[in-house]
Amino acid sequence: MSLHEETLSQIDNAAKIMDLDAEMKAYLERPQKIHQVAFPVKMDDGSVQMFDGFRVQHNNLAGPYKGGIRFAPEVDLDEVKALATWMSIKCAVVGIPLGGGKGGVTVDAKKLSQTEKERLTRAFVQAIADYIGPAQDVPAPDMYTDSQVMAWATDEYMKLKGGDQMGVFTGKPLEFGGSAGREEATAQGGVYIWNEYAQRNAIEPSKTKVIVQGFGNAGSNVARMLHNEGYLVVGISDSKGGLYCDHGIEIEQAIVCKVEYGAVNECEHAAINYNQIEEGHACKRVTNEELLEQECDLLVLSALENQITEDNASNVKAKYIFELANGPTNPNADEILSKNNVVLLPDILMNAGGVTVSYFEWVQNATNYYWQAEEVQNRLKEIMLNAFDRVESNRSKFNCSYREAAFITALERLSNLAKLRGVLS
Ligand code: GLU
Repeated sequence: MSLHEETLSQIDNAAKIMDLDAEMKAYLERPQKIHQVAFPVKMDDGSVQMFDGFRVQHNNLAGPYKGGIRFAPEVDLDEVKALATWMSIKCAVVGIPLGGGKGGVTVDAKKLSQTEKERLTRAFVQAIADYIGPAQDVPAPDMYTDSQVMAWATDEYMKLKGGDQMGVFTGKPLEFGGSAGREEATAQGGVYIWNEYAQRNAIEPSKTKVIVQGFGNAGSNVARMLHNEGYLVVGISDSKGGLYCDHGIEIEQAIVCKVEYGAVNECEHAAINYNQIEEGHACKRVTNEELLEQECDLLVLSALENQITEDNASNVKAKYIFELANGPTNPNADEILSKNNVVLLPDILMNAGGVTVSYFEWVQNATNYYWQAEEVQNRLKEIMLNAFDRVESNRSKFNCSYREAAFITALERLSNLAKLRGVLS
């Protein structure tokens, strides 16, 4: 099953449970527009390389298309279609007035210099400039794109179109139209819901061992936040591999170490009480696949899609899974996990904090009035917890999983909108 087929199967599954109108389901199965571009970039050695880029505009019933742009070697049309579909669903789960889109360039961003990355960003913006805009389609960061990339992208768009176009990209630096709290928003939104879930289910942080897969923006922030809440983070990883320390890991130290050594599995000395434990005893280096199968209570998936599949789902020891990446668990794995009574809090709910603060940034850009960090956090918390309540009540009503309930919540909202707007009968 391709990634896009996985999203369709998730929609299909929820549609059956809630008895969704067949026209509505067909309407959401296809993206409204697909833009595929090829463009040249001058490299530092003077050569010119061609790159393929995509922007998929899945649905704009609720507002302008919204969703990130990733620079990664695996990017292809199928992946971008899947991610764009999840964006429409995600915005509808949290009820923000934005639609769903996604973009990407097929490139190994780690091999680019900063100047090559800047030229690639500007060239991609030139290629898609006519399809995006503050009232049309608003991209944001995703894998291997960050606030610096958004600053170049916004600058390029403004040069092309003129005037104040600050709301064309979100996830910009604070000094250049960004919002307070955007960097941490993806992790923070998920942590607000996790804390609420933990409280309702009497889960005690100090007795809960956590593994976090992925150490990018979402992963490193969620590891730090959970560590600060008193959880024992015993495992972390990045694309080069993982580290599992049964005494726990000092996350702040691991963040510093990752910058210095470029890989978290070089960071044994970040283990809690490292000086008092025998060397090589309490920490082991593991692969990303092995990390997912280590002993823990909570597994946070914040790396790539398709990490838990039919091949490893039954080896997962965690009781709870909290998805921060998009699509880290496939539908076959969902079934196995649910049979094994693993509670899974899904991506479209848990990582919606990122796009929610992007929405706040877009509102601040439109009004040219900027909020304090506390205001951003309060509003984010309110939106995330309201979404969680709605999902929780659909879960009881339909007696289904959190993923199914989150899809149902989104599909109910989108169906109402489609009826109100007269798009469907
Ligand atoms: N790339 C993020 C996501 O997958 C954020 C999208 C946005 O802020 O528009 O949710």
